[in-house]
Amino acid sequence: MIPVSAVRLGEEEERRVLDVLRSGHLAQGPVVVELEELFASLAGTRHAVAVSSGTTALVAALEVCDLEPGDEVITSPFTFAATLNAILEAGAIARFADISLDDYCLDAKSAAEVLTDRTRVIMPVHLYGLPADMTAIVGLADDIGATLVEDAAQAHGAEVDGRRTGSFGLGCFSLYATKNVTTGEGGVITTSDDSTAERLRILRNQGMRARYEYVIAGHNYRMTDLQAAVGVPQIGRLGEMTSARRRNADRLTSGLSDVAGLVLPSEPVGRRHVWHQYTVRVTPDGPLGRDEFVARLAEAGVGAGIYYPGVVFDHECYLTHPQVVVADVPRARAAAAQVVSLPVHPHLSDEDLDTVIRAVRRIMGS
Ligand SMILES: *Cc1c(COP(=O)(O)O)cnc(C)c1O
Repeated sequence: MIPVSAVRLGEEEERRVLDVLRSGHLAQGPVVVELEELFASLAGTRHAVAVSSGTTALVAALEVCDLEPGDEVITSPFTFAATLNAILEAGAIARFADISLDDYCLDAKSAAEVLTDRTRVIMPVHLYGLPADMTAIVGLADDIGATLVEDAAQAHGAEVDGRRTGSFGLGCFSLYATKNVTTGEGGVITTSDDSTAERLRILRNQGMRARYEYVIAGHNYRMTDLQAAVGVPQIGRLGEMTSARRRNADRLTSGLSDVAGLVLPSEPVGRRHVWHQYTVRVTPDGPLGRDEFVARLAEAGVGAGIYYPGVVFDHECYLTHPQVVVADVPRARAAAAQVVSLPVHPHLSDEDLDTVIRAVRRIMGS
């Protein structure tokens, strides 16, 4: 079976983890600082603050926005539950706008239609490794004085007009096991604002500014040096890994471009995709439905993933939640019904990719 994602950790990770183990210092320490420095230079920001997960990165970023009860965050309905859970955890109202089917990200025009006088944060999700249309979204946030929080969990090193994700607003990255850089569990918040970075560091560590000097009610959102030791070498290799993902995506696109009933992903002008996922849509004019397509791929030894099978708020716990304001989101619903992610990870061989292409073509009758 060709897996839809794969992680390879090498000798450098082993050596780094052993060094930490032998040092006897397992909790947050110098290796976390090293990871933060590498991450800030990856995102092109002055600061990076490492935390325990992508979810806690989002919660902490929202908490430093100083939201009042009733304040609203506009986000994408086509995302992982963590995006929504973080908004609720931070005590804000989650309001949804539709996505664009060109990039599967929050659509600025739809977001403009759901603004209210309580909108404080706009939170685009850079889905599958492709940044949202940040030119339009930054413009919208500036117009109304809203803060931008980027859910960049899937988009390490992606760019818009040469600017990295995580540098437009408060950048929130995940280092979960399947992400483009992993520490098993982990997250990072990026910012170029000195005082925001300082507040995030305090918030992460029980609200403590100096030993036993508590200035806010904080959390334990710390990352450990053991985890950072797994992440540091991968940030060093990320350029190479992303190039491999980009080459793999190109090969899939040239092999599948003429397949009827399939919409391939594209890279809008000015944006640099880092291909966390290569996601196609199986449209109603094709010979079979999406779920059958996935089942036939599995029979052919090709792993595939459905991210995500529904819009994020379509569960009883959210539909009845007092902090959730749902919306009519036909494009997100169409995407959820049609998307399939094919293997694009950096450890695929050309033969693997050709196997994927042949299987897809045969199943689609091309
Ligand atoms: C993975 C992910 C998160 C959450 O990250 P964790 O590290 O798993 O907490 C948030 N948003 C999106 C879009 C993700 O893919």
